[in-house]
Amino acid sequence: MKKLKALMLVFAMVLGTFFFVSSKEIDAATDSRSGVYKASYTVNGKTTSEWCYLVKGKVQYGYNGFAQNENGWWYIEKGKVTFKKNDVIKGKVKGQDGWWFVKGSKVQFVNSVEKNSNGWWCIQNGKVNFNFNGLAKNSNGWWYCKGGKVDFNKKDVIKGTVNGTDGWWYVSGGKVQFVNSVEKNSNGWWCIQNGKVNFSFTGLAKNSNGYWYCKGGKVDFGFNGIASNEYGSWYCRGGKVDFSYNGNITFNGVKYNVVNGKASKAATISTGSTGNGGEGYVLNTNTMRFHYPSCRSCSEISKKNYSTSNKTRDELIKAGFTPCGNCRP
Ligand SMILES: [Zn+2]
Repeated sequence: MKKLKALMLVFAMVLGTFFFVSSKEIDAATDSRSGVYKASYTVNGKTTSEWCYLVKGKVQYGYNGFAQNENGWWYIEKGKVTFKKNDVIKGKVKGQDGWWFVKGSKVQFVNSVEKNSNGWWCIQNGKVNFNFNGLAKNSNGWWYCKGGKVDFNKKDVIKGTVNGTDGWWYVSGGKVQFVNSVEKNSNGWWCIQNGKVNFSFTGLAKNSNGYWYCKGGKVDFGFNGIASNEYGSWYCRGGKVDFSYNGNITFNGVKYNVVNGKASKAATISTGSTGNGGEGYVLNTNTMRFHYPSCRSCSEISKKNYSTSNKTRDELIKAGFTPCGNCRP
């Protein structure tokens, strides 16, 4: 019983303090003001200053919402500016209903992409634009928004303006990816350079699936032939470098010898060529063996010992070469 009484006493004291604070008066000079003001009050000889929302000098402890002063628009929590609120909040600001971007309890009239518990939103001049479909920026990057909301599932190549540049941009996970790759949209597969389709690119471009022949920035799946990049010339089949190919290819009137997809202009040995039906042989001038171009050993021949010939089998044997025991030419 004693314990209960003591508890009730403490409770009454807490309640008393609460009433004292909540019914405190702002100093007389500000008494009639309405708006967001810094209010000073003294409790137990200790003066505290807080930014509060006042109506006719009274702090509106029951108020949650937006209010204005000469410094801007503020989100009020239980009558006070906490300066800690970061959110996208529904309410009325500048006479407009909407969802507003609040940082440090202040409405930020900026363009950005900001989050609340429902997702990330395209903010335009402080407010969510629910009609916005496209690319919007924040400090983390550029994001694809649909109906004003970031769509983190978006994977596409889409038209838009990024960092002031119009173009078609590669979006993955809802975010513009500033990478070099080959990526698709409903119109095809595209050569992406630093995030953007390069429509003037013709050549080989790479993605995780391989190297692709692009013409005007677009993968040409109908391309069969030789294309070059900084690593050399390569045989493409169906628009893709075919690293499994070994053989001879004539492309644009030039004959190439292809080893594991890599093409080099077919050479002839100094004794001249009588031809062997266009198949050709690969020579190892060190071991003095000759191979079919499709032989696995061809890729192991060092550059200085590697040569090709259009001579016949008999001619090569006469010239001192031995047929390879694996490919048996
Ligand atoms: Zn061989």
